[in-house]
Amino acid sequence: IRFNALKDLIAKADSQLQQQSRIQNTKMPVDLTLLSHENNIKQWFSNKYVYPVFQPQYDSDSEKITGIECLTRVNLPNIGAISPFDFIAAVEQNNRIDEYTLYFIDNALTSIHSLLLHNPHLSCSFNISAQNLDKAFADKLVNLFQNYTVLPKQITLEITESNAIKMTSEALYAISRLKLYGVKLAIDDFGTGYSSISQLVDLPFDEIKIDRSFVCQLADNKKAQAIISATFNLATSLHFNLIVEGVETQEQLEFLRDKGNCIIQGYLLSKPLSTDDLQSLILGKGKF
Ligand code: C2E
Ligand code: CA
Ligand code: CA
Ligand code: CA
Repeated sequence: IRFNALKDLIAKADSQLQQQSRIQNTKMPVDLTLLSHENNIKQWFSNKYVYPVFQPQYDSDSEKITGIECLTRVNLPNIGAISPFDFIAAVEQNNRIDEYTLYFIDNALTSIHSLLLHNPHLSCSFNISAQNLDKAFADKLVNLFQNYTVLPKQITLEITESNAIKMTSEALYAISRLKLYGVKLAIDDFGTGYSSISQLVDLPFDEIKIDRSFVCQLADNKKAQAIISATFNLATSLHFNLIVEGVETQEQLEFLRDKGNCIIQGYLLSKPLSTDDLQSLILGKGKF
C-alpha cells in the first residue's frame, strides 16, 4: 500500500512539475516592445493600453458589496489582450514594477476615489508585487494615498503568500510602514505558498484570501473541502478577515455559508467591471 501511495505521489508531483513548466513557458513570450518605445508608463494609461477593472466583493450572508479588488487589464496595439499574470511578470523583468504599481493605483483611485469618499465602508484592494516591497516604494505609496482624501482603512494591499514568507528587512520596513499608516494587509492566494502558519501570523496581516484553485475543486475534492474548513477555523481563532475568491456556483456559495461568514469574490456574484459599470452597480442598487 505504501508503495502505491508513493507511486501516486510521484505521479502527482510529476504532473505539477509539468504544469509549472507550462506556466513558466507561457510567461516568456510576452515581448513588451512598448517598454522600449514608450518609456513613459503614464502614457500607457492615457492611451488605454493598460487600465484598471474592479471586481466587487460581497458579504456572504447579506450579499451586500463590501469592497472591490482593482485588477490590471492590458490591451496592446498590434498584440491585443494579454494576461495580467504575463504582463506583470514582464514589467517585473524590466524592473519597472514600482513605477507601474504607483501609476496603476493612482489611475484606479482617480476613477473611484469619489465612490470611496461617499461610501466610507467600502474597501478597495490592490495587488502588490514582491519586488515592490522596499522602503522607497512604501514611502512613495503613502505619499500617493495622502494625495487622495481616501481613508487609509479603506485600502487593502494584497501580497501573495509565497512572497509574504520571504520577508527581507526592506520588505518588513515596507509592510510595517504601510500598516502604521493604516492600510490593511491581506495574504493573497492563501494555501498555495507552502508557508508555515506560525511565520505568517507573526506578520501584521489583517486578511486571508483563499485561492480560487481550492474553491473550484470544492464539489468533488474532500481535501479542498478540508483545507477551506481549516482556513475558516484559522481565520476565526486568529481574527483574520476571510475572503474567498473564484466563487462561480451556488453550491460553492452554500458550502462556504455553511462554514460561517466570509467575503465572497467571484463570477457568481460579479465579474470585474469597468468604472462606469461599478458606479451604476453601487449607486443603482443602493447597497449601502
Ligand atoms: P489574483 O490576485 O488571484 O486575482 C484574482 C483573479 O481571479 C483575477 O484574474 C480575477 O479576474 C479572477 N477571478 C475572480 N473571480 C473569478 C471566478 O469566479 N472565476 C474565474 N475563473 N476567475 C475569477 P486576473 O484579473 O486575470 O488577474 C490574474 C492575476 O494577475 C491576479 O491574480 C494577480 O496576481 C495579477 N494581477 C492582476 N492585476 C495586477 C496588478 O495590478 N498588480 C499586480 N502586482 N498583479 C496583478
Ligand atoms: Ca489579488
Ligand atoms: Ca522596489
Ligand atoms: Ca488567486
